Amino acid sequence: MKTRRVVLCFLLVALAAALSVAQQPSSVTVIKAGRLIDPETGTAAANQMILVDGEKITAVGPNLAIPSGAMVIDLSSLTVLPGLVDAHTHMGLTYKERPENYYYYLTYITDSTPLRAIQAASNGIQLLNSGFTVVRDVGNNALYVDAALRQAVEQGWLPGPTVIPSGPMIGSTGGQFWPTPEMYKYHDIMYPEYIDANSPDEIVRAVRENMLFGARVIKLCVDCKPWGYSVDDIKLAISEAAKGGCKVEAHVQTTEGGQRSIDAGVFMIAHNYLTPEQHRQMAEKGIFLAGTDTPFMPYRGSEEAFKRTVANLRDAWEKRVPLTFSTDMDYWNERMKDPRTGEWLTRGDLTINFLATWKAAGIPPADILRAMTINGYKAADVIGQRGPIKTGFFADVIAVAGDPLADIDALRNVRFVMKNGMVFKKDGVMMPEDFFHPGPVKTPNGRWTR
Ligand SMILES: [Zn+2]
Repeated sequence: MKTRRVVLCFLLVALAAALSVAQQPSSVTVIKAGRLIDPETGTAAANQMILVDGEKITAVGPNLAIPSGAMVIDLSSLTVLPGLVDAHTHMGLTYKERPENYYYYLTYITDSTPLRAIQAASNGIQLLNSGFTVVRDVGNNALYVDAALRQAVEQGWLPGPTVIPSGPMIGSTGGQFWPTPEMYKYHDIMYPEYIDANSPDEIVRAVRENMLFGARVIKLCVDCKPWGYSVDDIKLAISEAAKGGCKVEAHVQTTEGGQRSIDAGVFMIAHNYLTPEQHRQMAEKGIFLAGTDTPFMPYRGSEEAFKRTVANLRDAWEKRVPLTFSTDMDYWNERMKDPRTGEWLTRGDLTINFLATWKAAGIPPADILRAMTINGYKAADVIGQRGPIKTGFFADVIAVAGDPLADIDALRNVRFVMKNGMVFKKDGVMMPEDFFHPGPVKTPNGRWTR
């Protein structure tokens, strides 16, 4: 009787031990890549393996030993590459054909900050589904929707790209609005879409305030008004932003504003109303361009505007300006459907459609891919820790059918997405369960660090 009891005890202990091992699966994932693209060099290597432990990449190469208990993801029939970047978008803004006739001052009245935050969360999921793992979210986000989205993704509430938020755009009186005196003076219509900053003191205050509330980049309206910012004003914003580790992106819509931004040495210029000579200067100074190169689509644009956009992008590429893939994709209408299936295009589909402009400009696929990855990581200032598929970096990995180095449209068919080591999409199907948590599991004190 006693012996039997001892044996039973031993068996129970052994079973418990076996169960506890089973309950602690290895956190290592091994990705087998049929081809692995290095966008820096524009080359691909066959049959590579990527080891991922937790959130980070721990090894890359052919014939790596597979640790016991590792989960193996077989992408040997696909092309694997790092995640994509939209270097200029607005996650928390959807201005519509109806009711506001694309008049986005009205969006600010019809859509509250909480509604826009929910739109931003949805847009983040849609963009991740199309392979975008980093977005620069630069203004027109009501009361810091962009910073909140970054925080929510970072804390582990929901899946989404890494967001580089700017907070509200900083501009001189009026920003991009032309309000009535009543709306301006008595209803404070400018804020939070724009922060009016008209003197050195106000510029410093506005930059500090945005950084306090989570901005990782400072967005300036340089020439939205004839009384826009001088070279000295821009330089002041640059030096103040640097104190908080931020760089300055200039919204530019005139040749003069472009020149003042170049002379002041901004980090990036948004929109491409720049001259060939200014492209040359930007290349010389290494100023990034977010051209927001809108394609001509049944739901947007005109043939005439498209021709100009294509010519300007082509010239910037010829002059070797550091180009980023950027969209300003922040609007919606009822024509945004796939003509073949009649299904709605997602924010991700609409974003990747900007490839049409790059193709029309005759830019080689390797250069387009570099703009969408390496230049994007640099412009987002994440290049030291996120982006390239390298040991020690966050595991942001996507895979497509076909070869984007031969046909850039292969990027339209994203079959696999991993973000921070978690699988978000596999076999072309979203499976985001791992991303949802009942609390801020990744930053328990509710704050994030720089
Ligand atoms: Zn914009």
